[in-house]
Amino acid sequence: MEIYELTALKLGQEIKKHRVSVREAVQAALGQIHKNEEKIHAYVTVEEEKALAQADRVQKAIDRGELEGPLAGVPAAVKDNICTEGMRTTCSSRILSGFIPPYSAEAVKKLEKAGVIILGKTNMDEFAMGSTTETSWYGPTRNPWNTAHVPGGSSGGSCAAVAAGEAFFALGSDTGGSIRQPSSFCGVTGIKPTYGTVSRWGLIAYGSSLDQIGPVGRDTADCAAVLDIIAGYDEKDSTSMARDKYSFSEALTGDVRGMKIGIPQDYLGEGLDDSVRQAVTAGAEALKECGAIVEYFNLGMVEYAIPAYYVIASAEASSNLARFDGVKYGYRAADCEDLHEMYKKSRSEGFGEEVKRRIMLGSFVLSSGYYDAYYLKALRTKALIKQAFDQAFSRYDIILGPAAPSTAPLLGDSLCDPLKMYLGDIYTVSANLAGIPGLSVPWGTDSQGLPIGLQLLGDCFREDNLFKAASACEKIRGRWQLPFAAKNSSDSEKREVLGV
Ligand code: GLN
Repeated sequence: MEIYELTALKLGQEIKKHRVSVREAVQAALGQIHKNEEKIHAYVTVEEEKALAQADRVQKAIDRGELEGPLAGVPAAVKDNICTEGMRTTCSSRILSGFIPPYSAEAVKKLEKAGVIILGKTNMDEFAMGSTTETSWYGPTRNPWNTAHVPGGSSGGSCAAVAAGEAFFALGSDTGGSIRQPSSFCGVTGIKPTYGTVSRWGLIAYGSSLDQIGPVGRDTADCAAVLDIIAGYDEKDSTSMARDKYSFSEALTGDVRGMKIGIPQDYLGEGLDDSVRQAVTAGAEALKECGAIVEYFNLGMVEYAIPAYYVIASAEASSNLARFDGVKYGYRAADCEDLHEMYKKSRSEGFGEEVKRRIMLGSFVLSSGYYDAYYLKALRTKALIKQAFDQAFSRYDIILGPAAPSTAPLLGDSLCDPLKMYLGDIYTVSANLAGIPGLSVPWGTDSQGLPIGLQLLGDCFREDNLFKAASACEKIRGRWQLPFAAKNSSDSEKREVLGV
């Protein structure tokens, strides 16, 4: 097996046993970057020299016995809306094209303290607004399973980097599904933790009441190991939660006996591709055979999630993005007569179409005449959605469903119709509105060979149930080969058995 094929945890073990050096690990990932980036474009910025220098420092610390964590020496990628000190952070926007943060996000600091090497910054939809990674100022990312297709979004770069072997894991952010949906499209595992679990300090805000940072990994164990490191109370984030326990890896038992799993009927209706529906029902059957109690039920409120989400997310975005005015950060338009023209031109030239659409929508729903009719109503709807989940979780340990209505669309297909793109978020946005954790685990592929993920939702602070069920899914599913590994026929046979 090549170094770049190892999971993050396995690589960490090999490094600890001195069978692989940290430098070799970084070189292995850089090798994949050199080989694939021209086609995939998962990264906005790669910092080779910095990564290699950091590798040598981390190696020394490991040799001295100062770094003993499971991911010490493992190279990873970070989404480009998460600040990295001294490393360009653009949110894939022109307006931040020259922004070099003077500090690192808390999650990044925690990774670095654990000996993780940051390779670079991954591409995304501009300011995390989108579902395909096509709205990036730096051009789209392509899906490593089939480069004619999008990787999903907005953390498409992070998911594609992991799927292409260009990073052993990555950080993403999820405001309305941006970790789970691209994870599903790229055949990797991603988790959005309970709101408040990972510090948002240093995450460039989109919808502050919805945003969460989370890991994207090659498997569930890698995600748990990363979350073990990045989770924790942070006084710098006023919405950070102090939790009793932060050991997510302990939950990877794969034992679902007696676990109550609910499948919302309202997630399986119109608009869902057959291949995805079949994957969900096959997943449910398989978990049942392993001893879980599976029931179909009506979640309710599903049709209100998208409008509520887009009103709230845009409202918060319009306020959060007011700070980008050409004065304090990044891009400033040239040849302006006065201050107002400078603001106007810098913002007009610095932001892309989708971002402008959201700023206008957000400003509208917050304006005095429409606040009650839209924003306030959306907040009330949000409360009802939370209630629907509370009720569901009084009966079930987890909710199982699709992560997206289809597999990855073709490049260019979603851009022409923003409303259609918004509707594609139907299965993911409610988790953000309710603050609950959600995970996507690869389950099978469709007839074109594109991956399908299962989405598991849990009650607040019950990531353990998600890890338990996801590790069970992995056990049942068996070996899962990412595009950088050689394909073999026994895999496609296995997928047929899974009913997808
Ligand atoms: N697709 C959703 C949006 O465009 C979610 C994005 C996200 O989670 N960052 O808002």
